[in-house]
Amino acid sequence: MRVLIIGGSGFIGSFATIKFLENKHQVVNVDSLTYAGDNSRLSEIKNHKNYKFYKLDLNNKNIKKIFTTFKPHCLINFAAESHVDNSINNPNKFITTNVNGVFNLLKISNDFYKKNKKFFFYQISTDEVFGSIKNKSFNSKSSYLPNSPYAASKAAADLLVRSWNKTYGLPIIISYCTNNYGPKQHVEKFIPKIISNAFSNKKIPVYGNGKNVRDWIYVEDHVGAIYKITNSKKVNSRYFIGGRNTKTNLQIIDEIVTIIGNRKLNKLIKFTKDRLGHDLRYSISVSNNLKNLGWKKTTSLKQGLKKTIQWYKKNLKI
Ligand code: NAD
Repeated sequence: MRVLIIGGSGFIGSFATIKFLENKHQVVNVDSLTYAGDNSRLSEIKNHKNYKFYKLDLNNKNIKKIFTTFKPHCLINFAAESHVDNSINNPNKFITTNVNGVFNLLKISNDFYKKNKKFFFYQISTDEVFGSIKNKSFNSKSSYLPNSPYAASKAAADLLVRSWNKTYGLPIIISYCTNNYGPKQHVEKFIPKIISNAFSNKKIPVYGNGKNVRDWIYVEDHVGAIYKITNSKKVNSRYFIGGRNTKTNLQIIDEIVTIIGNRKLNKLIKFTKDRLGHDLRYSISVSNNLKNLGWKKTTSLKQGLKKTIQWYKKNLKI
């Protein structure tokens, strides 16, 4: 397959780029390399004969030229401003990239689809579009109720994608995933921050009382699901991808501290003023259509955290 990946230099997109190349697909990666994009994540495949990189913003109209030359079978969009805290402090970019950028991709994709009827558009979404859930889990009956500017921008993108399908017939897929963790994630995110602060003896900031719950999935399990979904080519469907690891933030710190093996690290916790609009709990129930593709997670939280901690221990410059 010829796979056009947008945002392949980011955390999840880089694992996906490598997965598709390892499985003999051709990949073009378009990424504008914001502070969150880093091609060193792709150093092992940068010279691969089936790989090409273009440094372009997803709002750039020239992406059309890549469609003409590469003739992709599908586009998978990972590109986004992805950090909730940044969306609270500076929401502008979240609208430009996550909403307007997807609008641009949809227009170009739909023009291409008119003459390439096997093409489909796959949008990578998040459970955050459904807001917060007190108990039980998000599923295909959940309503969009985003609370942060990040979640709202992702929800807006999903709705644009849906409308391009309903109005113009563009074949689409949307998958919603819980919180990812693993090697090579930007240190602004929760788990890398805990690990890096723990190793450098810095305070670990925890919002509110630390009881907010997230469902954690190892990045390669998420990418395994994306790979199966893409290969199945079952378009006009939505998939729910969860890790079945719902933990409070304090429990996650405890798991990491236990693996690092220094109980005193718990003393590094510093409670900070709660994040504005902070969602209390996320949890997803894996959808049957994903189970039917033969997907299940293969990495336990303990195994995943061990791999992640080892990677940061080796690669953190502290
Ligand atoms: P990331 O921030 O690590 O990577 C985003 C990538 O997009 C970067 O390479 C960046 O350079 C690129 N990008 C940003 N703005 C761009 C623009 N205007 N033009 C072109 N490229 C641009 O994000 P991630 O954690 O890898 O997340 C990838 C996708 O998965 C996002 O859409 C996110 O909403 C979604 N998601 C993430 C998680 C998670 O826990 N990380 C969970 C569910 C869904």
